[in-house]
Order: sequence, then structure tokens, then C-alpha cells
Amino acid sequence: MQTQFSKEQYQRPEIQQADEILRKCVHCGFCTATCPTFVITGDERDSPRGRIWMMRDMLESDAPASQETSFHLDRCLTCLSCMTTCPSGVDYMHLVEIGRDYIHKTTKRPIIDRIFRHMLVLVLPRAGWFSLAMKTAKLATPFKAFLPVSIKALINSVPKKIKKLDPVGSQDIIYKAEGQTKKQVILLAGCAQRAIEPEINAATIRILNRIGVDVIVRKQAACCGSLAHHIDRPTEAQNSIKNVVQAWSQEIIENKIDAIIVNTSGCGTMLKDYAHLLKQDPELSDVAARISQLACDVTEFLANNPSLSFSRNVDLMVGYHSACSLQHGQQITQAPLMLLAKAGVQVALPKDPHLCCGSAGVYSILQPELSGQLKERKITTLNKLDVDLFVAGNIGCINQLSESKAPICHIVQLLDYLSGGPIPQSIEMLPAIQAAQ
Ligand code: SF4
Ligand code: SF4
Repeated sequence: MQTQFSKEQYQRPEIQQADEILRKCVHCGFCTATCPTFVITGDERDSPRGRIWMMRDMLESDAPASQETSFHLDRCLTCLSCMTTCPSGVDYMHLVEIGRDYIHKTTKRPIIDRIFRHMLVLVLPRAGWFSLAMKTAKLATPFKAFLPVSIKALINSVPKKIKKLDPVGSQDIIYKAEGQTKKQVILLAGCAQRAIEPEINAATIRILNRIGVDVIVRKQAACCGSLAHHIDRPTEAQNSIKNVVQAWSQEIIENKIDAIIVNTSGCGTMLKDYAHLLKQDPELSDVAARISQLACDVTEFLANNPSLSFSRNVDLMVGYHSACSLQHGQQITQAPLMLLAKAGVQVALPKDPHLCCGSAGVYSILQPELSGQLKERKITTLNKLDVDLFVAGNIGCINQLSESKAPICHIVQLLDYLSGGPIPQSIEMLPAIQAAQ
């Protein structure tokens, strides 16, 4: 794609980066077919190619972003399916970051929207606050018909059953390996996931300890910053990122860590981008770059660990939902399937596995209509599978797909159970699980 930035514009690092990315796009349109928003709306402006075109025009103009451009960039899920498809290697992820940052700097959202986003960024990254907010939202359920669309979407996203807050992440602690320590890792305890499903961190720690891995958790490393990063809150995003980097810096500098384990794939994509996000920071850039090298999804780590064995033989057919942040953001497709095969279960994949379920961080709250259509589409394809349960590697997807015909849990919960851990609550009533007891 041709660009026409002036010499003055080209002095700005973000314009240089955008220019480099834009020039790679040859406008072939292959990405449109795999873009979930284009598949739903059929509008070129809701496709990667259309958005790239609009961002080029916006950045070249140096004028405040138009409402049209803001509207269609807001509708982008940042699922990165377009990056998997693109034959020219267009780095859409960093281009859309530049585009959103430009919109943030040149325009102002309506006051209600700003307050709502501020509330999300204040509450969701704090597991305790989020847990309390979900309980409050439950109380408001009978009145939701009278509430604004965004609040209604927020209430709709609250799980049916609110569980006790996950204690992992509430203190600095090392969970020691069973037997001799072979490796030492850091676990990102996370934020929203702790309020929604407390079993995931517990299962991750158990399975790692079982294969001789010490697991370090630091309280200060709570939210990875992705939530704020994706909804136009750069200051809060930077604060969260810096908190995480500082929390882990001692162990990283002392070179004591074999890996940084992430069990929410959206956060994994974010950690792997810390090197880029903090590259201008004179104090933290080195540690941030090391974090990006060490970060790995829990399935990536387990698939490369020969010590993992499975002691339970359960006849299960599992439907695997691949989260976008895992398959597109981190290009991890085989590790979860290899682990499930090694655990002795059969696996089925839904039609169009590359398409997003519509969860995408807080997209389901900010764009409830499109999110709802994507959710319905995904559940329809999942329900066509003849399976006992579904697994996924991202809490957002698990929550979004909880109305599917079979129960759903995190893949690490199933792997932990099959290698000797307790039965995940969500699947304890399955006949195959009961028969195996
Ligand atoms: S597939 Fe890549 S090169 Fe082709 S239009 Fe999409 S982003 Fe551009
Ligand atoms: S990130 Fe996803 S929604 Fe956004 S343009 Fe790419 S494929 Fe479409």
C-alpha cells in the first residue's frame, strides 16, 4: 500500500512504525474472509483491509479521527485472525494500537462512555472488587430491562454461580514442587479470572508441582494491563504493566526463572508483547524483554515437559475451543491438542475454529450486539459436536460459552484431573467422570 506521510510526520516514531506496517499490505483481501466482524456484517469497513485503509487515511490526515473510523475500530475484536491469514505479514496488532492511540489523543468519547470505561478499568483488574461487583450486579438482574444497554451487557456477563475469590495472588508465596525441584517458574495469578473461576490457578499449581516445578506468585503482579490497553486507557495500562515488571524483576535479574506461566491466553499475548510496549523505558526495558522471552502458555510449558504423565483413564470425548489469543495472538495450536491426546481423551473441533466467540476481553460488554451474534454462532457450531464436555484456555471464552449444551472448563483443570488432581466442579456430574470413580 502506498503512503504519503510528510517529512514532519515521519519524525514521529509511531508514524514510522505505522508506515512500515501499512506498506506491507497489498490489499489482497484474504484477511476479510477470516475476520469475524466482516463475516457478520459484510461491511468492508468492518474488515481488516477496510480498517487498515481507514487508519492510513486518518494518520496521513493529521486531523482528529472521524466518527466513522472510531466506530469501526471500536468494533474490531483485536482477535488477530487477520494476522494468521495475511500472506504479507502485516502487523495489524501494532497498527491498530497506533490507530487507537491516535483516536484517544485526537477525540473525546461521550462522557457516559468515558465514565463506563473508567469504571471497567477500575473494577475488573482488582479481583476482590470485581467479585463484589458481580455480586452487586446479580442483585440488579431483575431490573436489567430498565438499565442502559452497556450495564445490561455487564449483568449478562456475570456467571450464573459466583464462586469464592481465588486466594492465589493475594500474597507473595512459593508453591513448592512435590519431591525434588527440577524447575522454577513464576505464575501470573491474574485478575478477573480469580473472581470468576478460582479452580484454574489451583489446578495449574497442582499440575506444575506434581512434575517437580516450584511456582512463585507475587501479589503485586496482578493485572497484566491488557484490559486497559484495549479500551483506550493508556495510563492505567502502563501502570499495570510496570507493576508486573517490578514485581518479577528481582527473580528475573537473578536469572532464577525457567518460565513465566500464563493460564489466561489473553494475558499471555500481552506479556509476550511487553518487550515492545516498554522498549522506550530506560529502567524496565531489559526486564520487560526478558519477560516476553520467558512468558509461555501453560499448555506450551506442559507439552514440552516429558515428566507429565496421566494416571486416570477416563473415556471422554472433548470439544476443544481455541481462544483467539492462543491460536492467533500466540500461534499456539498444537500444544493443547497434543496434551489432550497424551491424556488419552478424544478431541473434536468445531466448524470455523478460527472465528472468535465474541468474548475478547470486555468486547462482550462494550459491543454486546456483535458479541452476541458471534457467541450464538460459536455455540451453534460447538453444539453440533457429539462431546461430553468442552475445554478452552481462556476464562473469557469459558464464561462466554457457558450456555453450550455440554459443560465447559479450562484445559488445565481437565489435565490436572487426569494426572491425579480433584474433579473440576463444572464436570463432576458427567456420567463418564462418575463411572471412572
Ligand atoms: S491479507 Fe494482509 S496484505 Fe492482504 S489485505 Fe489483508 S492485511 Fe492486507
Ligand atoms: S483483529 Fe479480528 S476483528 Fe479486528 S480486523 Fe483483525 S480479524 Fe477482524
